[in-house]
Amino acid sequence: MDLLLQDVLIIPQPDVASIYRSNIVIEDNIISEISSQAQIPDPEYIINGKSIVVLPPPINSHTHLPMTLLRGFSDNKPLYAWLEDIWKVEGKFDADWIALGTKLAALEMIKGGTGGAADFYFHESVIGKVLVEAGLRGWLGAGILPSAFVDQGGYEFQLEELGRTLDLAKGSPLLTASVAPHSQVTVPEETILKAADLAQSHQIPLMIHASETRKEVMDSEDKYGVPPVERLDQIGFFREETNEILAHCTWITQREVEILGKHQATVGWCPVSSQKLAYGGTTPIPELRSTGAVIALGTDGAASNNTLDLWREMREAVNVISAARWDPALYPAEHVLEDTNWAFRRKFHLESLIKVGNQADLVALDFHSPHLRPTYNIISNIVYAANGSDVHSLIVNGNLLMLNREVLTLNEEQILEEIEDRVKELF
Ligand SMILES: [Zn+2]
Repeated sequence: MDLLLQDVLIIPQPDVASIYRSNIVIEDNIISEISSQAQIPDPEYIINGKSIVVLPPPINSHTHLPMTLLRGFSDNKPLYAWLEDIWKVEGKFDADWIALGTKLAALEMIKGGTGGAADFYFHESVIGKVLVEAGLRGWLGAGILPSAFVDQGGYEFQLEELGRTLDLAKGSPLLTASVAPHSQVTVPEETILKAADLAQSHQIPLMIHASETRKEVMDSEDKYGVPPVERLDQIGFFREETNEILAHCTWITQREVEILGKHQATVGWCPVSSQKLAYGGTTPIPELRSTGAVIALGTDGAASNNTLDLWREMREAVNVISAARWDPALYPAEHVLEDTNWAFRRKFHLESLIKVGNQADLVALDFHSPHLRPTYNIISNIVYAANGSDVHSLIVNGNLLMLNREVLTLNEEQILEEIEDRVKELF
């Protein structure tokens, strides 16, 4: 595929001073030139226009993609009552349903300009195949939950699925396998440590939910005398050679902030889902950022968000911190943009930043819209005013997934129709 982006504004770093106008040439998946004279004789595709703003596409740091099937199914309930609703239906999800839910999620991600996701679910090899078909990046967290909450074949099946996910990701430029024990309250210690051993021996990321609710923290303190992240540290969950991704961390202590910083762990923060399920706590983002932990924004599943729109999530993230901490300067727009469009890439996929010689991962936003004018500060408009529907085109790994809002890798109409036709079978 060769593609010319002509006369576009480029945001190579999340700061206003770095923004410049230029042409970009992509040949054989790679950014081959960035300059105002850059041209190709007969480009297959051209993205043209003064109103186009280009930056690396956001990566969703924590989600459950097939849960798009349950969008709007259960609202206005606290976590455990909501989970009971969800588990009743989720138990019916076989590979077929997982594929359909992931197709809907992939379509939503492409239309919203998201370049990939760190997913956490069962049947990750099925999810990975759909992401490859869609052309999106995936960090596939093969779920480990030996208890009887969901009927997903049990622990043995989950380990086999991890094996299939590892095989699928081998040699794929888009996929990274990962192992994902559900949480320290739902998975026994020896199984959590087995998962950490597997992550270490395969050199893959290790995902877990941690300190999501106050109840989880209280239960951990009652049972083990310490809160969840501290306990994970005590039992040897964090390893020198392993990259850990902890979802939520809504209720953590200063000591736990320091533990996460010491291990340079990634925190997959999902502010919209946390607010909707009324967790009450606020992840201490400014403190975490100053300790060396990596903050990466996520949406959580569409059953608790209810969208996968990371542009909306950015705006909410800043507002949550400002409101909770009585300080609108504590988490400025540049920081949340870094935590959505750069942080995860810097940690897990450096070769996809906007630079000559790198793999081309680019999202093009169209600023030709009343809610994005005037443009005193482009970063302010992106964080506080833009939505997923402002995405014009999306390129991942040098492939064009959407051009001028037309999805090129998936059949949009067919997926929407299939969802409408089939989803009633679940209930
Ligand atoms: Zn989650």
